Parts: sequence; C-alpha cells; structure tokens
Amino acid sequence: MNNTFIRPETDKAWCPGCGNFGILNLVSEVLEELELGKQNLVFVSGIGQASKTPHYLDVNMYNGLHGRALPVATGIKMANPELIVVAEGGDGDMYGEGGNHFLNAVRRNLNIVHIVHNNMVYGLTKGQASPTSQREFKTKVQVNGVSNEPFNPLSVALSLNASFVARAYMQNKEHTKEILKAAFLHQGYALIDIFQPCVVFNPVNTYKWFSENSYILEEHDTANIMSAMEKAMQTHPFALGIFYQQERKTFEESLWKSEETSNPLYTQKHDIKEMQKQFDKYTLSYL
Ligand code: SF4
Repeated sequence: MNNTFIRPETDKAWCPGCGNFGILNLVSEVLEELELGKQNLVFVSGIGQASKTPHYLDVNMYNGLHGRALPVATGIKMANPELIVVAEGGDGDMYGEGGNHFLNAVRRNLNIVHIVHNNMVYGLTKGQASPTSQREFKTKVQVNGVSNEPFNPLSVALSLNASFVARAYMQNKEHTKEILKAAFLHQGYALIDIFQPCVVFNPVNTYKWFSENSYILEEHDTANIMSAMEKAMQTHPFALGIFYQQERKTFEESLWKSEETSNPLYTQKHDIKEMQKQFDKYTLSYL
C-alpha cells in the first residue's frame, strides 16, 4: 500500500523483525483511511524505541523528555483543542517514567489518543525489566528473575473511570486497526495498549508467545465496567479488544464551559496582543 503518512526518506532505527515496524504501518494506514489531514495531527513522544515512531510519520511531532509525552500532549491540546493529539511511546516510558502522568491523563479525560507499544522490556537501554515485564523474567539486571507484580495498565485505567480502554496485538492487523480507528473517533482519553515483541532483548515474549497467550474478546459488553475489569484482571491468556467505552465529559468541556471561562489562548489565537493580555491576566492571577 502506498502510504503517504510514512516518511520514506527516513531510516528506521529499529532491529530487523522488531514489532515497532508493524505498529508504525498500522498507525499510518489508519491515519490514511480515516482521512485525517496531516495539518491537524500532532504526535508527541518521549524516549525509547517506540518513541521514535512519530519521527517516521509525516505529521507534526514533538519529541520530549523520558516519560513526559502526556503533559506535552495536554499543553498542545489545551492551546488548540481542534488538533488531533496523539501521545505514543513504550511501556517503560509511559508506565514507568511517565506513570504519574498516565494516572492523571486518565482522570482528566482530555480528548487525546494514547498509544502504548508494550513489549514487556526496556529495549533502547538494552533489556532491563519494564513495569509490564512478567514475573520470573530474567535479564542482566534482574538475574534471578522479576519479583514484582507486573503493572496492569488496563485495570488501573478502568479504576480511574477511563472513557476508552483497549488492548491489541500488532500481528492481528485488522483487529488492531479497528481498535485504533475507534480510539481516534472516541471523544475523550483513549488508551490502546498494543503488544509487540522485542526480538533482541525479550526472548520470552515472542511473536509465538503473544499469539499463544492472547485471544480476541467476543460478545463482550463494552459498556459494562465490572465485566471489563474482570477481563482486564485476567492474564495468560490476555484478552484483546475494546474493554470499555463510555461517554464522559472531557477535560476541555469541564474547563471551558461558557464564553466567560473559555480558553483564553485558543479563543484569542489570531490576536497576538490580546493573547498576551489574556496570558498576563491569567498568569498573574496565579502568582
Ligand atoms: S531492541 Fe527490541 S524494541 Fe528495540 S528496536 Fe530492537 S527489537 Fe525493537
């Protein structure tokens, strides 16, 4: 497929066979199929192998500090709510260094898409256990195997009343694309955790392992949070699909309810002097 969202001129700094390639392709196909204008899209990432993904997409992008994609995405969305803002990164970056931001992004329910490539290991820094590494997983650092309980992003998001919670496996291409599309069309914070193998530093959670240890949810009521939580808590095999989706007031709707409380940066964006005046007024009122 000739996809105009992938930058052909950019070398992809990933190992041959890395699952990140598959996610890059799926995300770009979804952007193409949803006909989202490039000028409306902003991708934000932090540090890690997955965080390189926005570099390879022909969209507006910002690459920030380790674990800090979500606060930057929040700032961008607040400055211009009309933009489609996506925070993308790996399990280490988003749930480890960025763990606190993850909790607050769910609670705020800002209208953004949150894509997390989950390979259960830190790839860029050569194979340490990440928050989602499974128990007994041995690395050069965790020589006796991981003893911590793996972080469960889906059950955490559900417990904070997230408005869209999903998991996919990148080898299930059409299924993953369906979920990505639903996440882009959702009004509110949308988490999609995508399994992808690291073929160099995770010899346990391989393509075969993910296939054998996951299944696609059938006949699941996505409006039933208790059922979603029950399925999120079950692991080995891991369920894949949209676990939960609800309509909930977004952060933007809660904050800028009326003309009086409308976003000063956004409403005055074409008038620089007025923007400065409003900025001073709002900034000084917090001092
Ligand atoms: S180290 Fe792992 S995650 Fe990083 S590029 Fe290689 S295969 Fe992918």
